Amino acid sequence: MTSLPKKEIKLEDLLNEMKHIDSDGKRFVTKAFNFAQKAHEGQFRQSGDPYFSHVFETARILAEIKMGPNVIASGLLHDVLEDTDTDPEEIRKEFGEDVLFLIQGVTKLGKLKYRGLKRHTESLRKFFIATSKDVRVLIIRLADRLHNMETLEYLPREKQIRKSTEVLEIFAPLAYRLGMRFIHKKLEDTAFSYIQPEEYEKTKQLLRQRKKADMKFLEKFDRSLKKALAKEGMTKFSTSFRIKGLYSLYKKLKRKEDGVEKIHDITALRIVTNSVADCYKVLGIIHSIWKPLPGRLKDYIALPKPNGYQSIHTTIFTGDGGIIEIQIRTQEMHNTAEMGIASHISYKERKVSGEILSQIIWFKNILSRSTGQNTDIDRRKTQRDSTPDWIKNLGEESEVKKDGQQLIEDLKKDFFGHRVFVFTPSGDVIDLPFEASPIDFAYAIHSYIGNHLTGAKINGKLASLDTRLKNGDIVEIVTKKTAGPTRKWLDLVKTSEAKRNIRAKLKLDQ
Ligand code: MN
Repeated sequence: MTSLPKKEIKLEDLLNEMKHIDSDGKRFVTKAFNFAQKAHEGQFRQSGDPYFSHVFETARILAEIKMGPNVIASGLLHDVLEDTDTDPEEIRKEFGEDVLFLIQGVTKLGKLKYRGLKRHTESLRKFFIATSKDVRVLIIRLADRLHNMETLEYLPREKQIRKSTEVLEIFAPLAYRLGMRFIHKKLEDTAFSYIQPEEYEKTKQLLRQRKKADMKFLEKFDRSLKKALAKEGMTKFSTSFRIKGLYSLYKKLKRKEDGVEKIHDITALRIVTNSVADCYKVLGIIHSIWKPLPGRLKDYIALPKPNGYQSIHTTIFTGDGGIIEIQIRTQEMHNTAEMGIASHISYKERKVSGEILSQIIWFKNILSRSTGQNTDIDRRKTQRDSTPDWIKNLGEESEVKKDGQQLIEDLKKDFFGHRVFVFTPSGDVIDLPFEASPIDFAYAIHSYIGNHLTGAKINGKLASLDTRLKNGDIVEIVTKKTAGPTRKWLDLVKTSEAKRNIRAKLKLDQ
């Protein structure tokens, strides 16, 4: 083994990422820094680095996504209960109840080891239940995992594969669901490099070539665009280039048979404006000068994606042989797109009503969109059916002022409460809307399974088809060749996928 000079750990580097935090908060984090450094003294990572470097980098990621002092401090302290002889009482005394709660949450999750199928299932179940208590625990856990992935090269191959599989199956989808693109992309790409090293290299090559070719068009277009916008009096905006993640490109290439030259969103020009009105104005100016590709205009501002993502996408011909995807959004939408739920968790742990309001709006948006991939009509209906009254009444000033903090707590619970995570007997997680039935589950696995369902076992016991699935249920579907859906099933299902399949099958058989 060669001994490279180890990277120095400097408190300064962490504090530099904390421009959003006041001096009290910085003092608090400094105290946690000193405490953790001392507690982990003499411990080392596989890489040969001091163990403290891991918790330091975890905290740095949390600072980078603009978390508050309690969360950053918890990042520094997240392994002291597990790996040192620190007493929880000491943490409570020195850092308070909230930090202790966060560290204990992270520690609990960390204890779960993914060995073998049974345990795997069990851990996943606990994982979701534990995270539903406070989303900050999950964010710390994601930062922890991100740093572990970045230092995975020092672990044995078998462990690399296991950790990377977990990331692709659990952590990355969760980061995506929480809208944390920044972490999602890094997690996915690192895991991809370990699981399919050859495909990873191939995709990387492909991306490099495309980037080189696209850049010429992008830079030229960027200049023309700035001129065109200035001519219309638009000066308050910024542009940047964005490049697709490797794993997401790989998946897209596998889905499409067209080949890489037909994929137009490998690179894109991003325009960040000051207001929603300006987004549409910019779009109008662009379309009046450059011809858009038919069918490529997507208005995710008016119709956001289920994870809250907002932006206008369009693809245009540059006129000199190039085709460019353009994404237009406001600064706020941009923050949400990169950081997701993290951008809505106040960094000051004491919240002012404006922040509370924005959190409520965010959760409300997520809630109303997390009912699955329904059509708009379906969605409106499901929303009406399953949304409690107090949520529908939200956003009214008086309510917010009354007990904003409590409302957010309730909303957090509800955000997770609106989805159920259930498992196949082999441990795969199936994510379904609240009150979904075994029939939804069967169709979520495969339409064939749904169409030939004759019974279901929940946690090993036979259950009727109108049973409402609960978080952590293990569901086994019994099929028979001659079995088939009935009209009554339509009343028992929540997902549009199940409905569509049932209707199709019923018509077919009549
Ligand atoms: Mn850790």
